[in-house]
Amino acid sequence: MKLINGKNVAKSVLEKVKERTLKYEKKPGLAVILANNDEASKIYVNSKEKISNSLGFKSSIYRFDKTVTQGKIISLIHELNENPEVNAILVQLPLYKHLDQQQIIELIDPKKDVDGFHPINVGRLNCGLKPYAVCCTPKGIIKLLKAYKIKISGQSVLVIGRSNIVGKPLSALLTLEDATVTLAHSKTKNLKSLTKNADIIISATGHPKLITADMITKGTVVIDVGITRQLTGELVGDVDFEKIKDIAGYITPVPGGVGPMTIASLMENTLELFEQQNKRQE
Ligand code: NAD
Repeated sequence: MKLINGKNVAKSVLEKVKERTLKYEKKPGLAVILANNDEASKIYVNSKEKISNSLGFKSSIYRFDKTVTQGKIISLIHELNENPEVNAILVQLPLYKHLDQQQIIELIDPKKDVDGFHPINVGRLNCGLKPYAVCCTPKGIIKLLKAYKIKISGQSVLVIGRSNIVGKPLSALLTLEDATVTLAHSKTKNLKSLTKNADIIISATGHPKLITADMITKGTVVIDVGITRQLTGELVGDVDFEKIKDIAGYITPVPGGVGPMTIASLMENTLELFEQQNKRQE
Protein backbone atom coordinates (compact mmCIF):
# COMPACT_ATOMS: atom_id res chain seq x y z
CA MET A 1 0.00 0.00 0.00
CA LYS A 2 1.14 3.51 -0.74
CA LEU A 3 -0.39 6.25 1.35
CA ILE A 4 -1.34 9.38 -0.59
CA ASN A 5 -0.36 12.38 1.47
CA GLY A 6 -2.78 15.17 0.55
CA LYS A 7 -1.24 17.53 3.09
CA ASN A 8 2.15 17.44 1.37
CA VAL A 9 0.75 17.86 -2.14
CA ALA A 10 -1.50 20.71 -0.97
CA LYS A 11 1.48 22.39 0.70
CA SER A 12 3.43 22.38 -2.53
CA VAL A 13 0.42 23.75 -4.48
CA LEU A 14 0.07 26.56 -1.91
CA GLU A 15 3.79 27.37 -2.03
CA LYS A 16 3.53 27.84 -5.80
CA VAL A 17 0.43 30.01 -5.39
CA LYS A 18 2.25 32.17 -2.85
CA GLU A 19 5.28 32.53 -5.09
CA ARG A 20 3.11 33.57 -8.05
CA THR A 21 1.13 36.01 -5.87
CA LEU A 22 4.33 37.77 -4.77
CA LYS A 23 4.94 38.84 -8.38
CA TYR A 24 1.89 41.11 -8.32
CA GLU A 25 1.59 44.52 -6.74
CA LYS A 26 -2.18 44.13 -6.35
CA LYS A 27 -3.57 41.40 -4.11
CA PRO A 28 -6.09 38.76 -5.22
CA GLY A 29 -9.40 39.43 -3.41
CA LEU A 30 -11.54 36.58 -2.08
CA ALA A 31 -15.01 37.25 -0.63
CA VAL A 32 -16.70 34.49 1.37
CA ILE A 33 -20.37 34.49 2.37
CA LEU A 34 -21.26 32.38 5.40
CA ALA A 35 -25.01 32.16 5.94
CA ASN A 36 -25.56 29.06 7.99
CA ASN A 37 -25.09 27.94 11.55
CA ASP A 38 -23.22 24.74 10.79
CA GLU A 39 -20.14 24.19 12.98
CA ALA A 40 -18.18 22.45 10.19
CA SER A 41 -18.85 25.35 7.78
CA LYS A 42 -17.60 27.85 10.36
CA ILE A 43 -14.38 25.85 10.76
CA TYR A 44 -13.93 25.61 6.95
CA VAL A 45 -14.48 29.36 6.52
CA ASN A 46 -12.03 30.26 9.31
CA SER A 47 -9.39 28.05 7.78
CA LYS A 48 -10.01 29.47 4.29
CA GLU A 49 -9.56 32.97 5.74
CA LYS A 50 -6.35 32.01 7.53
CA ILE A 51 -4.79 30.34 4.49
CA SER A 52 -5.79 33.08 2.07
CA ASN A 53 -4.27 35.72 4.36
CA SER A 54 -1.07 33.67 4.66
CA LEU A 55 -0.77 33.71 0.86
CA GLY A 56 -1.06 37.50 0.75
CA PHE A 57 -4.65 37.55 -0.55
CA LYS A 58 -7.19 40.09 0.65
CA SER A 59 -10.05 38.09 2.10
CA SER A 60 -13.35 39.38 3.40
CA ILE A 61 -15.82 37.19 5.21
CA TYR A 62 -19.51 38.13 5.34
CA ARG A 63 -21.18 36.31 8.25
CA PHE A 64 -24.96 36.34 8.63
CA ASP A 65 -27.30 35.14 11.36
CA LYS A 66 -30.54 33.31 10.58
CA THR A 67 -32.57 36.53 10.23
CA VAL A 68 -30.80 37.24 6.93
CA THR A 69 -33.10 37.60 3.91
CA GLN A 70 -32.68 36.41 0.33
CA GLY A 71 -32.76 40.09 -0.73
CA LYS A 72 -29.84 40.96 1.54
CA ILE A 73 -27.65 38.20 0.07
CA ILE A 74 -28.69 39.12 -3.47
CA SER A 75 -27.70 42.76 -2.99
CA LEU A 76 -24.36 41.69 -1.47
CA ILE A 77 -23.68 39.44 -4.49
CA HIS A 78 -24.44 42.34 -6.87
CA GLU A 79 -22.08 44.56 -4.86
CA LEU A 80 -19.28 41.97 -4.92
CA ASN A 81 -19.79 41.34 -8.65
CA GLU A 82 -19.21 45.08 -9.28
CA ASN A 83 -16.30 45.50 -6.85
CA PRO A 84 -12.98 45.43 -8.78
CA GLU A 85 -11.09 44.56 -5.56
CA VAL A 86 -13.02 41.28 -5.35
CA ASN A 87 -11.81 38.67 -7.85
CA ALA A 88 -13.40 35.57 -6.35
CA ILE A 89 -16.74 34.99 -4.62
CA LEU A 90 -17.49 31.90 -2.56
CA VAL A 91 -20.85 31.09 -1.01
CA GLN A 92 -20.29 28.50 1.71
CA LEU A 93 -22.90 25.76 1.28
CA PRO A 94 -25.32 24.77 2.61
CA LEU A 95 -27.15 28.05 3.24
CA TYR A 96 -29.91 28.53 5.84
CA LYS A 97 -32.90 26.51 4.65
CA HIS A 98 -35.07 29.57 3.95
CA LEU A 99 -32.58 30.85 1.35
CA ASP A 100 -32.74 29.87 -2.33
CA GLN A 101 -29.28 28.44 -2.90
CA GLN A 102 -29.55 27.98 -6.67
CA GLN A 103 -30.75 31.54 -7.30
CA ILE A 104 -27.81 32.87 -5.29
CA ILE A 105 -25.25 30.72 -7.14
CA GLU A 106 -26.65 31.83 -10.49
CA LEU A 107 -26.32 35.51 -9.56
CA ILE A 108 -22.56 35.26 -9.02
CA ASP A 109 -20.62 36.61 -11.99
CA PRO A 110 -19.27 33.40 -13.63
CA LYS A 111 -15.92 35.16 -13.99
CA LYS A 112 -15.75 35.43 -10.18
CA ASP A 113 -17.30 32.03 -9.40
CA VAL A 114 -14.34 30.53 -7.56
CA ASP A 115 -16.15 27.24 -6.80
CA GLY A 116 -17.09 26.67 -10.46
CA PHE A 117 -20.74 26.02 -9.47
CA HIS A 118 -22.37 28.55 -11.83
CA PRO A 119 -24.23 26.79 -14.69
CA ILE A 120 -22.00 28.60 -17.20
CA ASN A 121 -18.89 27.10 -15.61
CA VAL A 122 -20.54 23.68 -15.20
CA GLY A 123 -21.68 23.81 -18.84
CA ARG A 124 -18.26 24.84 -20.12
CA LEU A 125 -16.64 21.98 -18.19
CA ASN A 126 -19.09 19.48 -19.65
CA CYS A 127 -18.53 20.80 -23.18
CA GLY A 128 -14.77 20.41 -22.81
CA LEU A 129 -14.36 24.21 -22.84
CA LYS A 130 -12.24 25.94 -20.22
CA PRO A 131 -14.44 27.14 -17.33
CA TYR A 132 -13.38 30.33 -15.51
CA ALA A 133 -12.84 28.06 -12.49
CA VAL A 134 -13.09 24.29 -12.01
CA CYS A 135 -14.85 22.90 -8.88
CA CYS A 136 -12.27 22.70 -6.10
CA THR A 137 -12.63 19.12 -4.79
CA PRO A 138 -12.64 17.41 -8.23
CA LYS A 139 -9.74 19.62 -9.36
CA GLY A 140 -7.82 18.69 -6.19
CA ILE A 141 -8.44 14.96 -6.74
CA ILE A 142 -7.05 15.06 -10.30
CA LYS A 143 -3.99 16.96 -9.01
CA LEU A 144 -3.49 14.37 -6.27
CA LEU A 145 -3.60 11.47 -8.77
CA LYS A 146 -1.16 13.26 -11.05
CA ALA A 147 1.19 14.13 -8.16
CA TYR A 148 1.52 10.38 -7.50
CA LYS A 149 1.81 9.66 -11.25
CA ILE A 150 -1.28 7.44 -11.09
CA LYS A 151 -2.40 6.65 -14.63
CA ILE A 152 -5.87 7.99 -15.46
CA SER A 153 -6.06 7.64 -19.25
CA GLY A 154 -7.79 4.43 -20.29
CA GLN A 155 -8.39 3.36 -16.68
CA SER A 156 -11.77 2.23 -15.34
CA VAL A 157 -12.69 4.80 -12.72
CA LEU A 158 -15.68 4.31 -10.45
CA VAL A 159 -17.01 7.52 -8.91
CA ILE A 160 -19.49 6.90 -6.10
CA GLY A 161 -21.82 9.84 -5.39
CA ARG A 162 -23.42 12.12 -8.01
CA SER A 163 -23.56 15.49 -6.26
CA ASN A 164 -23.07 18.74 -8.17
CA ILE A 165 -20.02 19.60 -6.07
CA VAL A 166 -18.09 16.31 -6.28
CA GLY A 167 -19.37 13.33 -8.29
CA LYS A 168 -20.74 15.00 -11.44
CA PRO A 169 -17.91 17.50 -12.09
CA LEU A 170 -15.35 14.85 -11.17
CA SER A 171 -16.84 12.49 -13.76
CA ALA A 172 -16.56 15.25 -16.38
CA LEU A 173 -12.92 15.99 -15.48
CA LEU A 174 -11.98 12.29 -15.53
CA THR A 175 -13.64 11.90 -18.92
CA LEU A 176 -11.53 14.80 -20.20
CA GLU A 177 -8.51 12.87 -18.89
CA ASP A 178 -9.60 9.89 -21.06
CA ALA A 179 -10.74 7.66 -18.19
CA THR A 180 -13.65 5.26 -18.63
CA VAL A 181 -15.97 6.58 -15.95
CA THR A 182 -18.81 4.83 -14.13
CA LEU A 183 -20.92 7.05 -11.87
CA ALA A 184 -22.62 5.15 -9.04
CA HIS A 185 -25.15 6.52 -6.57
CA SER A 186 -27.68 5.52 -3.93
CA LYS A 187 -29.87 3.68 -6.46
CA THR A 188 -26.99 1.72 -8.01
CA LYS A 189 -27.48 -2.06 -7.89
CA ASN A 190 -24.65 -4.34 -6.79
CA LEU A 191 -22.01 -1.75 -6.03
CA LYS A 192 -19.54 -4.52 -5.18
CA SER A 193 -19.44 -5.81 -8.77
CA LEU A 194 -18.44 -2.30 -9.87
CA THR A 195 -15.81 -1.72 -7.16
CA LYS A 196 -14.26 -5.14 -7.86
CA ASN A 197 -13.66 -4.22 -11.52
CA ALA A 198 -12.44 -0.66 -11.10
CA ASP A 199 -8.81 0.46 -11.41
CA ILE A 200 -9.57 3.58 -9.39
CA ILE A 201 -12.44 4.03 -6.89
CA ILE A 202 -13.38 7.53 -5.74
CA SER A 203 -16.03 7.54 -3.04
CA ALA A 204 -17.96 10.69 -2.08
CA THR A 205 -21.09 9.68 -0.19
CA GLY A 206 -20.65 10.58 3.48
CA HIS A 207 -21.45 6.99 4.51
CA PRO A 208 -18.75 5.62 6.85
CA LYS A 209 -17.51 2.14 5.93
CA LEU A 210 -19.55 1.98 2.72
CA ILE A 211 -16.44 0.56 1.06
CA THR A 212 -15.28 -2.60 2.81
CA ALA A 213 -12.31 -4.90 2.22
CA ASP A 214 -14.33 -7.58 0.35
CA MET A 215 -15.21 -4.95 -2.29
CA ILE A 216 -11.60 -4.23 -3.25
CA THR A 217 -9.32 -6.04 -5.70
CA LYS A 218 -5.60 -6.03 -4.87
CA GLY A 219 -3.80 -2.98 -6.24
CA THR A 220 -6.87 -0.75 -6.73
CA VAL A 221 -6.39 2.97 -6.12
CA VAL A 222 -8.84 4.14 -3.44
CA ILE A 223 -9.62 7.84 -3.02
CA ASP A 224 -11.86 8.71 -0.09
CA VAL A 225 -13.67 12.04 -0.35
CA GLY A 226 -16.18 11.38 2.44
CA ILE A 227 -15.93 13.26 5.71
CA THR A 228 -18.23 12.31 8.58
CA ARG A 229 -17.80 13.42 12.17
CA GLN A 230 -18.51 10.54 14.55
CA LEU A 231 -20.17 11.07 17.93
CA THR A 232 -16.70 10.68 19.44
CA GLY A 233 -15.59 13.72 17.43
CA GLU A 234 -13.41 11.59 15.15
CA LEU A 235 -13.46 12.37 11.40
CA VAL A 236 -13.94 9.34 9.16
CA GLY A 237 -14.29 8.75 5.44
CA ASP A 238 -16.41 6.34 3.36
CA VAL A 239 -13.70 3.70 3.29
CA ASP A 240 -12.84 1.08 5.93
CA PHE A 241 -9.26 2.35 5.87
CA GLU A 242 -7.63 -0.06 8.35
CA LYS A 243 -8.94 -3.18 6.57
CA ILE A 244 -8.36 -1.87 3.04
CA LYS A 245 -4.95 -0.20 3.36
CA ASP A 246 -3.00 -3.40 2.71
CA ILE A 247 -5.12 -4.42 -0.30
CA ALA A 248 -5.19 -1.07 -2.11
CA GLY A 249 -2.40 0.03 -4.44
CA TYR A 250 -2.74 3.61 -3.22
CA ILE A 251 -5.12 5.00 -0.62
CA THR A 252 -5.97 8.42 0.84
CA PRO A 253 -6.43 8.87 4.58
CA VAL A 254 -9.23 10.89 6.20
CA PRO A 255 -8.30 13.45 7.34
CA GLY A 256 -5.19 14.47 5.40
CA GLY A 257 -6.14 13.16 1.94
CA VAL A 258 -8.59 14.99 -0.33
CA GLY A 259 -9.58 17.70 2.23
CA PRO A 260 -6.36 19.76 2.07
CA MET A 261 -6.45 19.58 -1.75
CA THR A 262 -9.90 21.21 -1.81
CA ILE A 263 -8.59 24.27 0.04
CA ALA A 264 -5.41 24.38 -2.07
CA SER A 265 -7.54 24.34 -5.26
CA LEU A 266 -9.71 27.12 -3.89
CA MET A 267 -6.62 29.30 -3.38
CA GLU A 268 -5.27 28.42 -6.81
CA ASN A 269 -8.66 29.26 -8.36
CA THR A 270 -8.69 32.65 -6.57
CA LEU A 271 -5.28 33.49 -8.04
CA GLU A 272 -6.30 32.25 -11.51
CA LEU A 273 -9.49 34.39 -11.50
CA PHE A 274 -7.40 37.41 -10.40
CA GLU A 275 -4.97 36.78 -13.26
CA GLN A 276 -7.77 36.33 -15.82
CA GLN A 277 -9.43 39.59 -14.72
CA ASN A 278 -6.16 41.54 -14.82
CA LYS A 279 -5.45 40.21 -18.30
CA ARG A 280 -8.85 41.36 -19.55
CA GLN A 281 -8.13 44.89 -18.25
CA GLU A 282 -4.77 45.10 -20.06
P1 NAD B 1 -24.31 14.62 -1.14
O1 NAD B 1 -25.05 14.23 0.09
O2 NAD B 1 -24.74 15.79 -1.93
O3 NAD B 1 -24.25 13.37 -2.12
C1 NAD B 1 -23.99 12.08 -1.67
C2 NAD B 1 -24.05 11.15 -2.86
O4 NAD B 1 -23.78 9.84 -2.39
C3 NAD B 1 -25.40 11.12 -3.55
O5 NAD B 1 -25.22 11.28 -4.94
C4 NAD B 1 -25.95 9.71 -3.25
O6 NAD B 1 -26.66 9.17 -4.35
C5 NAD B 1 -24.68 8.93 -3.01
N1 NAD B 1 -24.90 7.81 -2.08
C6 NAD B 1 -25.46 7.87 -0.85
N2 NAD B 1 -25.52 6.63 -0.32
C7 NAD B 1 -24.99 5.78 -1.22
C8 NAD B 1 -24.78 4.39 -1.25
N3 NAD B 1 -25.13 3.61 -0.24
N4 NAD B 1 -24.21 3.85 -2.35
C9 NAD B 1 -23.83 4.63 -3.40
N5 NAD B 1 -24.01 5.96 -3.41
C10 NAD B 1 -24.58 6.53 -2.35
O7 NAD B 1 -22.80 14.75 -0.66
P2 NAD B 1 -21.55 15.61 -1.18
O8 NAD B 1 -21.78 17.03 -0.88
O9 NAD B 1 -21.15 15.18 -2.56
O10 NAD B 1 -20.46 15.05 -0.15
C11 NAD B 1 -20.21 13.67 -0.06
C12 NAD B 1 -19.20 13.45 1.05
O11 NAD B 1 -17.98 14.08 0.69
C13 NAD B 1 -19.58 14.05 2.40
O12 NAD B 1 -19.08 13.22 3.43
C14 NAD B 1 -18.87 15.38 2.41
O13 NAD B 1 -18.59 15.83 3.73
C15 NAD B 1 -17.61 15.03 1.69
N6 NAD B 1 -16.94 16.12 1.02
C16 NAD B 1 -15.61 16.22 1.23
C17 NAD B 1 -14.91 17.22 0.59
C18 NAD B 1 -13.42 17.31 0.82
O14 NAD B 1 -12.83 18.32 0.54
N7 NAD B 1 -12.80 16.24 1.29
C19 NAD B 1 -15.55 18.13 -0.25
C20 NAD B 1 -16.92 17.97 -0.47
C21 NAD B 1 -17.61 16.95 0.16
